[in-house]
Amino acid sequence: MNRDALERELKRAHVSLNGWLPVLQCDICKKRWEPFSTAVGDMAATARFDYWLCPNRCNRNAAVGLEVKTAIPRYVVINDIPGMIFGDEDLKEFERYVRSMDATEVQNRSS
Ligand SMILES: [Zn+2]
Repeated sequence: MNRDALERELKRAHVSLNGWLPVLQCDICKKRWEPFSTAVGDMAATARFDYWLCPNRCNRNAAVGLEVKTAIPRYVVINDIPGMIFGDEDLKEFERYVRSMDATEVQNRSS
């Protein structure tokens, strides 16, 4: 899963990513939402199959590509920093991003 390609596809459905933040934003009404079902206990939050659909349904008629339909956003937290990833490639990138925010952590892990 290529995050850039996915981001482009989401754009066509009037949806924006906000960096790594676990929220999507509607380009039409500017509504933000978390594309996950409510997590129960310590179960991993699972994504709704229509995670890209604006809660106000602005983009309900948008033709989303297969990439968007088959992508499964996952909620991850590393060092208390929440993020949204779409696959293992993204996870590595997100880990790099989190480490880049914390120089101490970089030292700890550079063995
Ligand atoms: Zn909307």
